[in-house]
Formats: sequence, C-alpha cells, structure tokens
Amino acid sequence: MEKKIIGALLFVFLVFGSSGCARPLSSPTSQTQITTLIPASGPDQPESVNDQVELSNDQVKPSNDTVKLPRDLPNPPSDGQANVPKAQTVPILYYHSVMQETGNELRMPPEQFEAQMAYLHDKGYQSISLDQLYQATYAGGALPENPFVITFDDGYVDNYTNAFPILSKYGFTATVFMVTSYINGEGFLSLTQLKELVTNGWEIEGHTTSHPHLTKLDVSAVLGELQLSKELLEKELGLVVDFFAYPYGDFNATVVQALKDTGYLMAVTTERGWADVSTDAWQVERVYCYASMGMDEFTRRMHNPNY
Ligand SMILES: [Zn+2]
Repeated sequence: MEKKIIGALLFVFLVFGSSGCARPLSSPTSQTQITTLIPASGPDQPESVNDQVELSNDQVKPSNDTVKLPRDLPNPPSDGQANVPKAQTVPILYYHSVMQETGNELRMPPEQFEAQMAYLHDKGYQSISLDQLYQATYAGGALPENPFVITFDDGYVDNYTNAFPILSKYGFTATVFMVTSYINGEGFLSLTQLKELVTNGWEIEGHTTSHPHLTKLDVSAVLGELQLSKELLEKELGLVVDFFAYPYGDFNATVVQALKDTGYLMAVTTERGWADVSTDAWQVERVYCYASMGMDEFTRRMHNPNY
C-alpha cells in the first residue's frame, strides 16, 4: 500500500515536474482543450499539483534529473548561500494568466495583480526588458534603479485584456513567452494583440511551437520546435527573438546546445531565485507568482534574491 502511494506521488512528480507551466496542448483551437489547460477545480488538476510542488520547493530543491545542470556550463552559486545577495541580480517575475478563477493557481486575480504592481510602483521599482538585462550584463548597458522584469508564459489572452491596462497605468512593460501554435486560438493572444503589445514596448519571445517536454524529444525535433517558433514570431512581428523560456522548466545540455545553434542568447527557467545572468545565461532563475501567494509572500520574494 505504501509503495503504491509513493509510486503515485513519483508519477505525479515525473509528469508535472517542477514547472509552473500548464499542461501541454497540441492545439488551442477547441474549448475542450483550453478547459484541459486551465480547469476550474478538482483533485486531479494541474494547479493543485503545481501548488504542492511550489510548497515542497520551500523545503527541498527538486531532484528531477531533467533540470540538472548541463555539465559543460559553470555552476551557479550553491543553495547553501541562502540570504547572501548575489551580485547584479534582478527579480524576473513570472505569471501565466491574469484573471479571476477561484482555486486555479495559474490565474492571478486582477485585483491582486494590480496590488502587486501598485506596490512596486510605490516603492520605486522600474520594469526593464530582458534585452536591457542582457545588454547590461554583456554590453555594459545601464539599468535604472530597482529594476525588475515581468514575464508571462504561454500567451493567454488576458495578458492583453487584463494585465496590459494595469501595467500601462503604472508605466510598466512585460515579456510574453508565446507558444506559436496557440496564436489566435481561443483563450490565447491573437496576432493583432501581439502586434499592439510590441508597439507598446512589450517583448514577445520564444516558448516553442507546441509546448513539449524538450528533453523527451530527439535533437532534430528540438531544433524544429525552436527554429519554427522563432522564425514565425520574427516574420509576423518584425522583431528579433533572442530569449526563451523552457516549457515546464525542462532542459538539459542538448536543449541548451540547440538553443545556441538556433541563435538564441539567453533562456529562463522555472527555478527559484533572482536572475543572475552573468553566472549562466542558459538557466536564468525567476520569481514564481501564483494566485494564493498573498502580498506578504510577494514582498518577501521581492526582497530576497534566494527566496
Ligand atoms: Zn509554458
């Protein structure tokens, strides 16, 4: 009996990993599939698993082999340096959806999102782009005081309908990691909306074509996911896509090499912490923001680079 329970827990962890991302979708075109992506409630749905993983991470770093350090890259600071600020670190907040849906951790209620942004504005934080962060790290670019980055994974339509007006009110811009097969799908951003966000200073960056677990694909399939999505965004939006977010935070040395071969410059993970780009541009940590976190936890994460 005990073995069965452990086996079930292991299965859940292997399937969902340590990611804050939603379940995979082959296509967003039907309501059924979108319901699968962000279900309303229930015991077997990803937000509850996600929440458990999030809580468990407070005690123990995930031991999932698929997110181990690639061997040909330098090691980041060890976890033993808790509460010692890293040099030149910047919090990169990451969200998925901004809308009200009780019990779904991936949906940040708009009032709470606005309270977070109002707090940051009042405290003098200034949003920067990933490009500014990269340039400051490698090209001597200057950053404003109290810099932070806002990112949204997957490309939910409420990033435009709900988050965009709130961010504009406080003078902030954000980055969307867009899954290109979701564009124009129900519940996701349209090409027209993406263009308007770009016009208003937002970045649209890579998150693959179909949101797979990249470490489970062979190299040619990984390259296809990376290249096609990058080319499509660049062609349709008239910009250069330099940055990437790993679906499910899932990567290894092969995936990193494929990103380099595709022409990307930097990739963010779902690992906890402020971004320390100079240590390793291919496993940049982020600050996960989820619906039940509350303001105390939000401000704690904004004050602790090793939260
Ligand atoms: Zn994702």
